[in-house]
Amino acid sequence: QAKAVGGNTLRFFNMEMQTSVLERAKLEGDLHQALERNELSLHYQVQVDHHDITTGVEALLRWYHPQRGWVSPATFIPLAEENGLILPIGFWVLKTACEQLAKWALQPAYAALTISVNVSSVQFQQPDFVRTVEGLLAQTQAPPSRLVLEVTESLLMSEPTRVRNTMLKLRSQGIRFALDDFGTGYSSLSYLKRLPLDELKIDQSFIRELLTDKTDAAIVDTTILLAASLGLTVVAEGVEKKEQLDWLKGHGCYHYQGYLFGRPTPIEYLFEAY
Ligand code: C2E
Ligand code: MG
Ligand code: MG
Ligand code: MG
Repeated sequence: QAKAVGGNTLRFFNMEMQTSVLERAKLEGDLHQALERNELSLHYQVQVDHHDITTGVEALLRWYHPQRGWVSPATFIPLAEENGLILPIGFWVLKTACEQLAKWALQPAYAALTISVNVSSVQFQQPDFVRTVEGLLAQTQAPPSRLVLEVTESLLMSEPTRVRNTMLKLRSQGIRFALDDFGTGYSSLSYLKRLPLDELKIDQSFIRELLTDKTDAAIVDTTILLAASLGLTVVAEGVEKKEQLDWLKGHGCYHYQGYLFGRPTPIEYLFEAY
């Protein structure tokens, strides 16, 4: 029986591998054209505080493929990082977000909202990244103090001094930094001390079973305390249930993002209910 299972598993594995290599190549070709064909768009997910006030949104990239439909960023971002397409794509994301910030700046009801933009390490480490961002802010007239750049722990590991200098330059313009997916990478806690961060985002994998898993609860609790003592805003990602919200509130976390408050949504429907 073990042999039969082994045989099946092997055949399936090979088939899968072959498809995935072909699929990957095909997807990569399609991604080259996605930008010019207007298949990329941004959806926005609200970030809410403990008074239920919307303080900002996170911009999340979407790709609508003409044949496949929606392709997850978890699939195509890593591809784009490998082949360099993340540079034009990341530029488009930043530009689109800045244009939105500039529009909001003219509307008193929205002027205080921030937009958080995910920045790939590849993109951040380009020698002209500071100039690119400054250029976009000037060109669009977006208020820099409303822009939050989300970076991941992998970036902090690469070249700490250079990364720090880049962050300091952008921060002197008023741009803020969030450390995304906190707790899932390999970064040392000493980076938290050395880098000019403003926000920690607790990864959704710790929030999911917060109410039943004691380890997750301990990690979240400790992260909240750590953020507070470092003077960082802490944001819980992936909040889906009222009970999770109550727990977080009770443990001193006052900023949230998750399906409980709203799913990522095209801009035209974002504040429909308001
Ligand atoms: P992320 O930056 O950590 O974004 C949060 C992810 O969690 C998003 O997935 C969002 O849709 C999802 N999410 C939000 N609330 C909930 C919830 O309550 N429950 C669950 N189960 N999920 C929730 P999404 O949009 O699929 O994006 C996945 C990742 O792709 C992002 O993770 C980010 O790392 C990357 N990404 C997305 N847009 C961009 C971009 O413009 N540039 C770069 N470099 N990466 C991006
Ligand atoms: Mg993010
Ligand atoms: Mg995250
Ligand atoms: Mg993520």
